[in-house]
Amino acid sequence: MTAKTRIIQVGSYAGSPTANDRLARAYDIVELWKYPDRKAALAEHGKGITALVTSANYGCSAEIINALPDLKAICSWGVGYETLDIKAAHARGIQVSNTPDVLTDCVADLAWGLMLAGARRIAQGDRFVRAGSWGQVHGGIPLGTRVSGKKLGIVGLGRIGEAIAKRGIGFDMDVRYHSRRQRNDVSYGYEASLVDLAKWADFLVVATVGGPGTFHLVNKEVLEALGPTGTVINIARGPVIDEAALVECLESGKLGNAALDVFEQEPKVPDALKANEKAVLLPHIGSATLETRKAMEDLMVENLESFLKTGKVITPVEG
Ligand code: NAP
Repeated sequence: MTAKTRIIQVGSYAGSPTANDRLARAYDIVELWKYPDRKAALAEHGKGITALVTSANYGCSAEIINALPDLKAICSWGVGYETLDIKAAHARGIQVSNTPDVLTDCVADLAWGLMLAGARRIAQGDRFVRAGSWGQVHGGIPLGTRVSGKKLGIVGLGRIGEAIAKRGIGFDMDVRYHSRRQRNDVSYGYEASLVDLAKWADFLVVATVGGPGTFHLVNKEVLEALGPTGTVINIARGPVIDEAALVECLESGKLGNAALDVFEQEPKVPDALKANEKAVLLPHIGSATLETRKAMEDLMVENLESFLKTGKVITPVEG
């Protein structure tokens, strides 16, 4: 029997049904999260290791990369890569892969779930019924906002943004988008200014990448431009929205509603948001379906296997 290839796994795949067991069956895993002193563990076990698996959540720092002299591939579970030090990896010629496309539909579906839940007060209505308030409180819950036929603004028309836009057409919506570059392969209207897009939109869905380039891209000015009847939806990354400004705008009535899957300091959610009926809050579950989590696991493992067999990952992050 040939010895299993040794790889590093940065964190436990709690959000994936079978990834931990599957990797452990096929590889000799250095389970980095189990070592209190990661530096010492990398020094002791890292020599000769060419591949590492991680996730958008756990990332891979320059410190880890630099501690692994033979590392040649980082295979990540998830599409976001702002927690992976791509620059440090590429400077050493290390390939980095993520799991794009396979999660697009489920994240877009969830963005729509959030949009409908916020506008039509679905989460609030559910709380109302469970609290036994139906029939007790005069007038029930406040009226919601119509979604069909409204104006949908997408911030970041990438894979997920485009899937959200497509669903908007099914709801007879007028769709426009903002990103750094105008796309010539779509017919949706382009707004070079995010503030102008927010002024125009009834619903503004954030679907950009995370990281320093988009930090607080959706600021107070953008939220105020969206206005008292507008709804912001975020399925991208928490730090893309200035959360303090969001709370302030919701509380002052300058923004209508917020529906969020992601937050600035997960799993911390500001108490002011929890207490606000104009906010719908989810625990970062954009890709969390059995089918999609399995597909992400498959693609992460396929990248790893492909690297070990051919020297090349399948879905490289160009960075
Ligand atoms: P993608 O195809 O790379 O799309 C990202 C989009 O962001 C591109 O259209 C890009 O357009 C735009 N963008 C980048 N920087 C920008 C900036 N400064 N201003 C405006 N737009 C900018 O990625 P994707 O597959 O759609 O995924 C998008 C993100 O969703 C991921 O990076 C991840 O953070 C998030 N996500 C969240 C969940 C969840 O569970 N909630 C799950 C999966 C993914 P330009 O380059 O033209 O600007």
